[in-house]
Amino acid sequence: MIVDAHCHLQLPIYGVTPDPSRWKFTKLLMWSYELLGYRNPLWRGEPPEPARMLISLENQMRLSMGSREKLLHYMDKNGIDYSVVLPIAPFVSSRDYLEACAGQHRLIPFATAYPGEGWVDELHDAMKGGCQGLKIHPILQRIPPDDPFYFHLLEEFRRYGKPVIAHTGEFDYYIVKDGYASYGDVRRLEKLIAAFPDVPFILGHMGLYYPERAIELARRYSQVYLETSFQRAAVVRRALMVAGRERVLLGSDWPESDSKYPLAIARKVAGNDRDLFRRITGGNLLALLGSQANPL
Ligand SMILES: [Zn+2]
Repeated sequence: MIVDAHCHLQLPIYGVTPDPSRWKFTKLLMWSYELLGYRNPLWRGEPPEPARMLISLENQMRLSMGSREKLLHYMDKNGIDYSVVLPIAPFVSSRDYLEACAGQHRLIPFATAYPGEGWVDELHDAMKGGCQGLKIHPILQRIPPDDPFYFHLLEEFRRYGKPVIAHTGEFDYYIVKDGYASYGDVRRLEKLIAAFPDVPFILGHMGLYYPERAIELARRYSQVYLETSFQRAAVVRRALMVAGRERVLLGSDWPESDSKYPLAIARKVAGNDRDLFRRITGGNLLALLGSQANPL
């Protein structure tokens, strides 16, 4: 059974609306990344400006593809049985995602929260309504990772014993820079992680351009998990070496990337080790979510 720990249904960031006619991934720079197994021969770390602009543009086009129908289509195509789907407030609410997943047990919704009247009640309603974890996204939410809001949020959330997944990695979502990319620096999450040792933290994209920083947090904090989207095989191997086979999770960030590529990397890294493959591609995540959520 294969589980993708990181997908989105629809994430209409400012200025981007879902495009019902788009069913295919763009084939620009992101595609070449994917074909190369996310190995990048051209630069290290964050991309130079022209490449960054092209990646943002392509990212917006791909985000416009998100919908339940298309996610299920790609899950069938790529052999993925279950997907964790992540809303990001204020663009969408936990309730939107619960409704979008209703009657479809292959989609596992997480919750989202954003400052404003009633957010605490909304969070508890979402968790009681079936959300299996929480997503936080400092860049898109424009809230610094060490802001008191996230501490308050986790104080409310910790009682459920479920994981939180955080976007990590400096990334500009818009072609014009909005100045919030640095909120993605994975090191800025450390205070939050240290304050809640009982809350499992999944580092989405494993720090993106600086995976060694995310891996270092996993080395220092035993409740930190590393999610593989956009990471090449060598990085996933390094993550396994440091964090162990229980704390690495397959993720694609669909529709920002086609899940067949991270799945191929998991297969390559696991080789003949069936136990390792089973753990990375679902076993570890289902163990984290607990028996209630376990579709088995
Ligand atoms: Zn995400």
